[in-house]
Amino acid sequence: MKKSTLPIIFFVFVMMFGVQAYAQGALEGRTIILDAGHGYENTPAFAGYTEEAAMLRLAFKIKSLLEAEGAYVFLTRETREDIPLPVRVARINLKSLEILANAEAEYATTAELERLKNAMRRIIRDYEEYGPIYFNTPFDTTRERVAHRDLQRIFELQANPILRDNFLVISLHSNATPFPIDTTENGADVYFMANYYYKSRTYFNNYANTRRMYAFGDILLDNIQELGIERRGAQAGNWFIIREHNLPGVLVENGFHTNDYDREKLSNDEFLQSLANAYLDAITRHFGHVEQEPQFSHQILNKIRAVEKRKGIIEREWLARPMIRDM
Ligand SMILES: [Zn+2]
Repeated sequence: MKKSTLPIIFFVFVMMFGVQAYAQGALEGRTIILDAGHGYENTPAFAGYTEEAAMLRLAFKIKSLLEAEGAYVFLTRETREDIPLPVRVARINLKSLEILANAEAEYATTAELERLKNAMRRIIRDYEEYGPIYFNTPFDTTRERVAHRDLQRIFELQANPILRDNFLVISLHSNATPFPIDTTENGADVYFMANYYYKSRTYFNNYANTRRMYAFGDILLDNIQELGIERRGAQAGNWFIIREHNLPGVLVENGFHTNDYDREKLSNDEFLQSLANAYLDAITRHFGHVEQEPQFSHQILNKIRAVEKRKGIIEREWLARPMIRDM
């Protein structure tokens, strides 16, 4: 056989069998933070299943897949130790500021970055004392609180493209219904911060990644559905882990562990491996088109509105207002 036909044969081979494979180092230069959720004190075992253990397992599996593609992966917890929410979010914010500092960004002086990093370090060291100063914790139910000035500055820095285009935070969970437990409820949800969401609008209304995270959540839920866990929806949510930073981020409920069918899957190591692959695919596709903003068609917006409306939390006049950084 002629030597020159070899590359063609190789190309055909890749086309036939390599569809699932990505270009070497497809995630080079990207930072993905995986948060394996709250510690076990918050999630009592259900029928032998513990959320914090299953989600940590999943996080490790996703991590190794991402690292094989050249990504830098950071876990907010690597053990079964119960790390409080403010500490995990402070770690996320701190990591983003470190990356900005390394990028020698002109967006902030070294002194300012150092000051903001120290604010987050204080929370990590003593979250009971400093968590409530910088973060909306405990949650302000009157919705009168606004984000701390230092935190607002961090949010502003996080909205710049160095971070927006290269950063992704994913908080991993499995769901449980409130008591009394309804074992029939099942399926996966993705939550992201949205400026139209009334629960967060007084606190900070300049979250930068609504569209992107809706689009990412949509892809991820498609992938999860292919694995047999029902797709519920990608929707606005007001969770601490996505509210107290302004990085591209989602909280994922990978199914209901109070549902026999979902729990059996989430308890299975092979399933968790497939699930990790579903994450790799969604993350790779997200970064593949991150430079061009995903189209946020009226159809998609209407879908989001429909979800909100079903929950009875829609506020029409707010939705009519333009999203400041996200239109
Ligand atoms: Zn959870």
